[in-house]
Amino acid sequence: MIWGKYLNGLVGIPFLTGLYLTSLYNYLLFHSLAEIFSIVVACGIFMIAWNSRKYIKNEYLIFIAIAYLFIAGLDILHTLGYKGMQIFADYDYYGNQLWIAARYLESITLLAAFSFFHTGRKVKPRQVFLLYTVIFSLFVASIFYWKVFPICFIEGKGLTPFKKISEYIICLILLTDMWLLFRYREKFEENVFRLLVCSLIFTIISELAFTFYISNYGFSNLVGHYFKIFSFYSIYKAIIETGIVKPYDIIFRELLMKETHLKEAKDAAEAANRAKSEFLANMSHELRTPLNGVLGYAQILKREGNLTESRKTGLDVIERSGRHLLNLINEVLDISKIEAKKMELHPSDFLLPEFLTAIGKVIEIQAQHKGISFQAELAPDLPRAVQGDEKRLNQVLLNLMGNAVKFTHRGGVLFRVARGEGQGARGEGQGARGQGQEEGEVSAHRPSPIAHRPSSIRFQVEDSGVGIAKDQLEDIFSPFKQVGEHTRTIEGTGLGLAISRRLVRLMGGELHVESASGQGSVFWFDIELPESAELPEIRKSEDYQHIIGVKGKQPKILVVDDRGENRIVLVDLLSPMGFEVMEAVHGREGIEKASEFQPDLIFMDLVMPVMDGFEATRRIRNTPELNHIKVIVLSASSSLSPREIIVKSGCDDFIPKPVQVPIIFRVLKAHLKLEWEYREPEGPESGAEQVLVIPSREVIERLYKSARVGDIMGIRKQLDALEGSDQRYFPFAQEIRKLAMAFQVKQIRDALEEYML
Ligand code: ADP
Repeated sequence: MIWGKYLNGLVGIPFLTGLYLTSLYNYLLFHSLAEIFSIVVACGIFMIAWNSRKYIKNEYLIFIAIAYLFIAGLDILHTLGYKGMQIFADYDYYGNQLWIAARYLESITLLAAFSFFHTGRKVKPRQVFLLYTVIFSLFVASIFYWKVFPICFIEGKGLTPFKKISEYIICLILLTDMWLLFRYREKFEENVFRLLVCSLIFTIISELAFTFYISNYGFSNLVGHYFKIFSFYSIYKAIIETGIVKPYDIIFRELLMKETHLKEAKDAAEAANRAKSEFLANMSHELRTPLNGVLGYAQILKREGNLTESRKTGLDVIERSGRHLLNLINEVLDISKIEAKKMELHPSDFLLPEFLTAIGKVIEIQAQHKGISFQAELAPDLPRAVQGDEKRLNQVLLNLMGNAVKFTHRGGVLFRVARGEGQGARGEGQGARGQGQEEGEVSAHRPSPIAHRPSSIRFQVEDSGVGIAKDQLEDIFSPFKQVGEHTRTIEGTGLGLAISRRLVRLMGGELHVESASGQGSVFWFDIELPESAELPEIRKSEDYQHIIGVKGKQPKILVVDDRGENRIVLVDLLSPMGFEVMEAVHGREGIEKASEFQPDLIFMDLVMPVMDGFEATRRIRNTPELNHIKVIVLSASSSLSPREIIVKSGCDDFIPKPVQVPIIFRVLKAHLKLEWEYREPEGPESGAEQVLVIPSREVIERLYKSARVGDIMGIRKQLDALEGSDQRYFPFAQEIRKLAMAFQVKQIRDALEEYML
């Protein structure tokens, strides 16, 4: 680059010197060469701009390029009309008149060109061409034909006042051009801008030089022409060189500017999105913390023996509502994570049939409550153990089946899982409960045309419910969209399907739906679930409800959390079981208490004042007397995955908040190698060995009558009387009472019908 510049200079010096020597030898030749140079440049500017006018978005440049063609025309005539050329025999000084005409045209063109920036108007090249043809013709006619153009030079006297004043006016116009150029500086590429400024300065100097000469062949005329060369050279550099050598600078300058603006807008949007995600993460942390107290205590209280029925129901309601709220928070978080592209899958090995049966059980209970049927058809050849994100798959299936139950009032729900082949999307007109089908009957489906892949598994949920209108089928996948008439009466956020679709896509599949209003719906998707080589350890569910303590030595536990309500949940859970529990309010106190108390295990919160859980855990790991202590991080944080938390802090395990008692017990057992002590089964409530004694047919018929008319109060009174008459009826009464509490009249009738057989 630098060499290039020097080279230009080196070429320039002999050229200018040669030109000077020419002027000494023959001034007319010098003049002609100098003018030809500017004429060639002007024509070049025109050609470049005209041929690339489609791409040049800078209206200023197109406009002046066209004008320069006509300026070049005047300059040709000026060269030809110069004194001594003897082409126009009638008058010696046409040259001076044409010079002034050309310079007026040049300076005013530069001025007018700015109006395209100011008004934002588009240049219409043909119109500009026409306009300049007219102006050019007027100048030429007024000089050569009408001879009304003022005289500029008088032999023996030199320049006329018109010529001198005109040069000054032209200088003023050029100065205004310069001022405007600075004003619209951002429209030009930096280099082009600098060269245009240089060109203007050189033109002004050249004009000033032309106010002095007395002879057309004098020194001042020479200087003027040199500066004209410099001025056109600068324009040449600005437009021709940039147009040919670095065309993108001119042609795509607008594009670059747009890109810069877009980038700025994108940065702003990203910053806003980050702020939103952060806000949501913080918010969810804040919301989960009080929920920790609510849910934790509901679970602790439920563990207490001899609770009355109404207390139990109350605690159930608290727990259910709490879980519902937690679910909502999680859904909002999930969708924001997905949108911020932060959602990741965490695959592991799991047992597929067990996993599906467990989900089926949950849905079966819901369906039973609603009085609709539920059927799970699991193909016998499903792989036993597979690799996938169990939690997310569970989430998707629960959402689909939960919806199916929610939107079905007659008939039922069919859940089918099979290897990719053989299971089909619903064929036209084959509704889950097509026309003419019996209530509760769920149709079989046509095989799918989708190609079979070895480890691909199809999950399909079909219902005979209210269905979805065809034109709303896409809407249901949009966040917060609920369709149909039920929207206000049925609870839900409208986020479930939006999340499910994105999760299925993350798993490499696509969530499909077929439905019609009143015809039921089918949702299905195929995903790859590679078979795992090893069978994962089967998780046995423990009867946590009946744990009352630990066998052997009582472990020592330290709970580190800045929130009292969080600490107390753990203290109240563990102390009655004989654990020795100590509390600390932040990381530093945690370390101090750990040294003196020497606990077996620490429950560590993450976000705390003074010293957070990450730092405290790291320090514990680096202290020889403490590093044998198990550290379990408890956190409501949603921005890090469990694995990230474990790696980052060096803890032994992670439990998400709000805490769930079974998880606490599982973690304690796993890390402290405990053996639980269970409560002895006592009284008729404890279940296992209870014998169901069925009351007399008379009693059952009376209950059935009340059930038929929906008299729940009557049923409950009769059950009270039955229990009072004989303790052995307790299990039977309990079963019916549960249904009565949930107003499940149909189920009560069904159950009683069975006993009447
Ligand atoms: P939510 O169930 O929380 O309202 P979803 O995103 O899970 O949100 O569902 C969005 C909407 O799609 C529902 O409100 C309902 O209008 C419709 N929908 C979903 N599943 C079914 C179904 N099985 N039958 C009829 N309508 C459904």
